[in-house]
Amino acid sequence: MLSHFWVDLHLHTVLSPCGELEMGAPEIVAAYRDAGIALCAVTDHNDIANVPAIRGAASGNPVVVSGMEVQTAEDIHVVVLFPDDRTAAAYREWLWREMPERANDPDIFGDQFVIDSENQILDEQRVLLVQGVGYSVDEIASEAYDRGALVIPAHIDRPSFSYESVLGRIPDEFPCHALELSPAVSHAGFTEWKARYPERVFIRSSDSHRLGTISRDRCTVMLLEEPSFEEVARALKGQDGRAVLCPWAGAP
Ligand SMILES: [Zn+2]
Ligand SMILES: [Zn+2]
Repeated sequence: MLSHFWVDLHLHTVLSPCGELEMGAPEIVAAYRDAGIALCAVTDHNDIANVPAIRGAASGNPVVVSGMEVQTAEDIHVVVLFPDDRTAAAYREWLWREMPERANDPDIFGDQFVIDSENQILDEQRVLLVQGVGYSVDEIASEAYDRGALVIPAHIDRPSFSYESVLGRIPDEFPCHALELSPAVSHAGFTEWKARYPERVFIRSSDSHRLGTISRDRCTVMLLEEPSFEEVARALKGQDGRAVLCPWAGAP
């Protein structure tokens, strides 16, 4: 039986230098539970190292999908979501072949902590995560698409780090499963984006860097059998009755 589930497919932890230090594992999990959001995707910049911490703290509530927000050579942000941890690790390995070795300066960019499910610091990523890798947006998307990952150009309505702001209109043949709008977009704004890309599926994600922005009014409702990567994938593809419901149409 299909039911409505709230999902948030874009979230940062303390691994992202721009993520607040309050973005620890138990805190993130508590925020999603309080908000009644059933599934979240951990999408730190260019890395996946904190997925186990969030998933461990969550114990299935919320369901945690592994992902990352890749910054392409053109400085476009693309959310990539993985069907399983093996695919995530393999893609990450491929990605980091073209990761510049520029070091992070925590005083300028912020800390990049790898944590466990109780916020113990396990490691610190020394390479700056908020920089463009050596692959084009087409390479980033195609490689992920071919590995069975979900590809979602991030915050396309924003004036920086978005596909639209860097390269203009996203070609119809560009391999992706949805287009992400930022939480700031209005219903009227959504209507204009939908008219610009009538064939595309749109989602809204919180892109949270702090706990206070984890809320239903920044996320998307999907019609699913259960909250899982597979069901989200079917919803984005419009298969078997699964669907993405317009987040601006009001909560179910
Ligand atoms: Zn971004
Ligand atoms: Zn982000």
